[in-house]
Amino acid sequence: MLAQGPTRRGIIFIVSAPSGAGKTTISRAALKKISGLRASISLTTREPREGEVDGIDYHFVTDEEFIRRRAAGELAEWARVFDSSYGTPRTPLDEAVARGNDMLLDIDIQGASQIRQSYPADTASIFVLPPSFPELEERLRRRGTETGDAIARRLMRARQEASAFRDYDYLIINAHREESLEALKTIVEGERLKVGRLREEFAPWKS
Ligand code: 5GP
Repeated sequence: MLAQGPTRRGIIFIVSAPSGAGKTTISRAALKKISGLRASISLTTREPREGEVDGIDYHFVTDEEFIRRRAAGELAEWARVFDSSYGTPRTPLDEAVARGNDMLLDIDIQGASQIRQSYPADTASIFVLPPSFPELEERLRRRGTETGDAIARRLMRARQEASAFRDYDYLIINAHREESLEALKTIVEGERLKVGRLREEFAPWKS
């Protein structure tokens, strides 16, 4: 162990998926079940859904506030998704990497690519796919948070986005929630053991 500070840098775990793939459910369960993993709380300009809490699910902000914070360089990445803006605050991310804390980012494929570019040595990215498209449609309808039109748009986008899995390090086909969660846990544990994550100063056998 080092005399001071963490032995390794924190890892930025990126989870992306077409909406309805079950990513949010997996991410939430992962935050509960995998120790030492914290959620990044995004800024968004969309309206809160029923049950969503400001400062926990998202920081809900106006368009003006979003533009101001983006212009001030406060976002590590941002993207327009379904006519709203979404962005990841930079400071918590930088602090987590420096302190050896791991973060979970539930972000879209555009944001994922920006984060990979900005933190090339400190990410691990995971793509979640539903077992099939009929299954995805069924999940979106069951969720019941969108109108028929919005569901059609999300499905179309899901088809376009699905091919992006090749840009990711890992793919989880989400057929059974428990198995997917186990897979995610295995990924997190493996990533934590990588030599490439250790600090330069780390020298376990030096007397
Ligand atoms: P929802 O509105 O359903 O919560 O999220 C819609 C999409 O926006 C999802 O694919 C989600 O992963 C993505 N998203 C949420 N937060 C962020 C963020 O901070 N940045 C980016 N690029 N996408 C985000």
